[in-house]
Amino acid sequence: MTREMTSSFLIMTFAICTLIIAVGPSELLRIGAIDVDGHFTFKPSDLASVSSDFGMLKSAEEPLAVLHPSSAEDVARLIRTAYGSATAFPVSARGHGHSINGQASTGRNGVVVEMSHRNKGTPEPLVEPEEMYVDVWGGELWVDVLKKTLEHGLAPKSWTDYLYLSVGGTLSNAGISGQAFHHGPQISNVLELDVVTGRGDVIRCSEEENTRLFHGVLGGLGQFGIITRARISLEPAPQRVRWIRVLYSSFEVFTEDQEYLISMHGQSKFDYVEGFVIVDEGLVNNWRSSFFSPRNPVKISSVSSNGSVLYCLEITKNYHESESDTVDQEVEILMKRLNFIPTSVFTTDLQYVDFLDRVHKAELKLRSKNLWEVPHPWLNLFVPKSRISDFDKGVFKGILGNKTSGPILIYPMNKDKWDKRSSAVTPDEEVFYLVALLRSALTHGEETQKLEYLKDQNRRILEFCDEAKISVKQYLPHHTTQEEWVAHYGDKWDQFRSMKAEFDPRHILATGQRIFQNPS
Ligand code: FAD
Repeated sequence: MTREMTSSFLIMTFAICTLIIAVGPSELLRIGAIDVDGHFTFKPSDLASVSSDFGMLKSAEEPLAVLHPSSAEDVARLIRTAYGSATAFPVSARGHGHSINGQASTGRNGVVVEMSHRNKGTPEPLVEPEEMYVDVWGGELWVDVLKKTLEHGLAPKSWTDYLYLSVGGTLSNAGISGQAFHHGPQISNVLELDVVTGRGDVIRCSEEENTRLFHGVLGGLGQFGIITRARISLEPAPQRVRWIRVLYSSFEVFTEDQEYLISMHGQSKFDYVEGFVIVDEGLVNNWRSSFFSPRNPVKISSVSSNGSVLYCLEITKNYHESESDTVDQEVEILMKRLNFIPTSVFTTDLQYVDFLDRVHKAELKLRSKNLWEVPHPWLNLFVPKSRISDFDKGVFKGILGNKTSGPILIYPMNKDKWDKRSSAVTPDEEVFYLVALLRSALTHGEETQKLEYLKDQNRRILEFCDEAKISVKQYLPHHTTQEEWVAHYGDKWDQFRSMKAEFDPRHILATGQRIFQNPS
């Protein structure tokens, strides 16, 4: 044995002994005895790393162990043990740990399954060009799915703004971005899943087979099973993107244009429609807006009158290099119907992959200034179209004042692109908006950038919606009482609860979401 091996052996032994003293030997021995092709780790640094997430709001309790699985069967063996024990213990999949409120944690008696760490044995994405789909491991990151499918000139149709998220993690929520108005969320673009249920059964499901489980798992917040494989629908990948931003001072005109754009279908339409609120131009507020570069002929400040709120519409047109002669004309025709401030057009042109990976560039910039690993009290809301103007008055022009501490996205989607049978919850109107308050808390700086201030502001925003009877639904929801969860699911609650009883009767899975009581 080399000196390094001896010392790692001693560290590991010490860690296990410490744990045995802390939690009692039986659980650890039981977990350690599970025969897996991947491996369990009990190292304090590994346990610590899975007990915090992107939100950095508070650390969850460390789990008993972390499983690095090599296959669906590894996950199934762990869950069968958890399910079959006299005292069941929690098991949570962790995608890339980009939740805000500890949703991928288990508490101190559980085991976290690290889905995104590539292990010996976890399958590479497998593209079927003829059938236009890709089969991917549940922990695969979307950025790697993109790289693989591009080798075949193909790409998934529906995205998130940021690609360093796991397939299983976004499919457990919905997965939305500016393509959702047309293609629906990512959960509307899945053909088949392999899922390990809370009983430890590995079940293949799709529109044709085990349909209830298929729809339940999509948007199901990890409650019914761990997704180990997903079959994602593909389209021919565009090569380039014309990326345009235009500004509005009137919220009504801004939303009218957004709603007009998402009502367009067929060939002649933009491929991506988003938007955001501009309060000021600081880095923390606008880190997603690296697009506004010094090369742009118009400075935002020259458009903004007396520091009031501006709204930015963000649209793209995808094209193939062979169409570069006609894209200008096509964009011009599409933009003629819009009513933005005429002097406020910002245009850039880039490769498709660079457009999709745009937020990662902003991440690197923030990391270099130590502004990435900070608390993120994010709040994402779906707001019904009929009340978006009240939301603007009460929140953007009211509660927020002229300080935001992070980007605020706002864009509409069509409900008919969301499958009613999925577990995802949206407002009860044909068009609804995502409003994403993506704020970063700073330890030094103004009071309005501190964590407690921002958390309190979130609370006031929810309270305002409640009092004004704006029926918002949280996206990436965080609720703390069962009453709130019942209200969140509304008429989907009975179905959700009965699925839980069927597929995870001992409440083992994704306990970090705090929807059901802990394992029994
Ligand atoms: P985790 O946070 O690790 O897990 C989330 C939940 O899913 C947990 O409950 C976990 O137990 C469960 N889970 C994880 N993997 C599986 C699996 N294989 N099977 C079953 N359950 C599983 N979302 C959007 O929709 N659009 C965006 O544009 C967008 N942009 C983002 C940008 C940034 C910078 C960040 C930090 C997040 C963004 N998100 C966006 C949110 C993102 O979708 C969620 O954080 C989501 O949870 C995915 O993150 P993850 O893969 O790290 O999952």
